[in-house]
Amino acid sequence: MEKILIKNSTIYDGTGAHPFQSDILIQNGKILSIGNLKELSDTYVIDGSGLALSPGFIDTHTHSDSKILNDPAHEHSLRQGVTTEILGQDGLSYAPLSPKNYRLNSEYLSGLLGNPPKNIDMSSVEKFRSHYDSKVSINTAYCVPHGAIRLESVGFKDLPLTGNALETAKNLVKESMDQGAVGMATGMSYFPNAWSDTQELIELCKIVKEKDGVYVTHLRDKNVERAFGGGWVKEAIEIARKSGVKIHFSHYRTDKNTAGNIEAKMHLIDEGIREGLDITLELYPYPTGSTFPLSFLPSYAHENGIPGVIGLLSDKSKKIELADYLDNDFKTPTGPIGEVILSYIPKFPELEGDSLVNIAKKRGETVGMALCNLLLETKCQIGYWAMPPDEKTWDQINLDIVKLLSRKDYMVGSDSIPLGSYPHPRAYGTFPRIIGRFQRKYNYMQLSETIQRITENPAKRFKLNKRGAIKEGYFADIVIFDSDTVIDNATYENPKQYPSGIHYVIVNGKIAIEKGKLKSSNSGKAIP
Ligand SMILES: [Zn+2]
Repeated sequence: MEKILIKNSTIYDGTGAHPFQSDILIQNGKILSIGNLKELSDTYVIDGSGLALSPGFIDTHTHSDSKILNDPAHEHSLRQGVTTEILGQDGLSYAPLSPKNYRLNSEYLSGLLGNPPKNIDMSSVEKFRSHYDSKVSINTAYCVPHGAIRLESVGFKDLPLTGNALETAKNLVKESMDQGAVGMATGMSYFPNAWSDTQELIELCKIVKEKDGVYVTHLRDKNVERAFGGGWVKEAIEIARKSGVKIHFSHYRTDKNTAGNIEAKMHLIDEGIREGLDITLELYPYPTGSTFPLSFLPSYAHENGIPGVIGLLSDKSKKIELADYLDNDFKTPTGPIGEVILSYIPKFPELEGDSLVNIAKKRGETVGMALCNLLLETKCQIGYWAMPPDEKTWDQINLDIVKLLSRKDYMVGSDSIPLGSYPHPRAYGTFPRIIGRFQRKYNYMQLSETIQRITENPAKRFKLNKRGAIKEGYFADIVIFDSDTVIDNATYENPKQYPSGIHYVIVNGKIAIEKGKLKSSNSGKAIP
């Protein structure tokens, strides 16, 4: 395997310590030595003078599960300096699933994840990991998804997980953790996840705790009457309290309704920390989110997956009922549906980038009815992002983001959905936006501390063995960038833009980005 010598770069070692200038020698995929090193004859030399060097960035939350299998180069992520992504997020992914449930869930998640390869074995976490190991450009870790566990135990149904079904589910979690999952993830805006109650999650999390994994949660806003404390933070805290599990909050930051009010946002969480709960959090540096609009439909509509949804939408009176529900419950055009910009709709790509309100107007339909018809016409394969707020609110949210990230319990998860011609810009810009644009604009903490949040912090949290720091003997996941110029170029209007200022990305000792250009190398491992 090639030897790489990086000369004279300024090293941010991931621990938050002050940077220092040194050379690094990489051999056999690992950092062999750090210091004043001589050039050897058979060594590839990179001149790092004037450049920053840090551990590769760890993205704690992405929806690349399918995309990366279809496009292993994964350029939008690598080009940001990312060398590891944690998959299975929001409890929405593909393993462990029987072939039948894999087909059902692939179809259900197609608006969020795209179409994964057909007929591959996703029957266990071990099989899942084998499809990524040394076959894609970055390292992948996996949280076993609550949705898959439910599917395998009670099917795509609003049924309680009790008795034998609960035993099946617990065994699946146990087996998945034994096969290398770093935790269990759920998303309580989504199905089948949100058919659970709090007790079910406590029982499953006891297993996660036993295996020393992390419970990763996108908080509940569906079926809140089933939840302790009405869902949201209160339920999550109760799950951590009763199971003893380490808990990690997905994409947790202020938004247009809470901008500037960090105290209110963090109050219950800080109370939990004072109580002794083991809590971490993540955020992405944008003011609005992105997901699939299928999730706007009411709980009952999701039963039996896409065949069930299509059945309802094909029935005229039931469709009208659903359209009314959408129009009323989401108060278009100012509620969430009124802010929808379609990001991914492969059946009608000409609609990508257009607002649902505008599309409805052109169709002469209400917004709710337009969404129902589009779901029907595309078999629900649609993704969207929400319009950003006015500039003042946006600025405040940015400031909140850097303040939150200065907390030692925070890390960064892009929540990237790299699909369609108008993906949310977070898929292309998250990390350079943090270390470049925000770092220089707000200068809220040292760059070394910012880097700690996206390297050592997640590596320790998810027990990614020998990653997240520049140390001898550690895996050579490395990014070399210009800290004065590094910046994101992706915007909501023009999202598919690579960042500037990322010069080299090295994954397991192999160069993946060279002088800012993609160099094909599928050296990513399924870790930890
Ligand atoms: Zn997500």
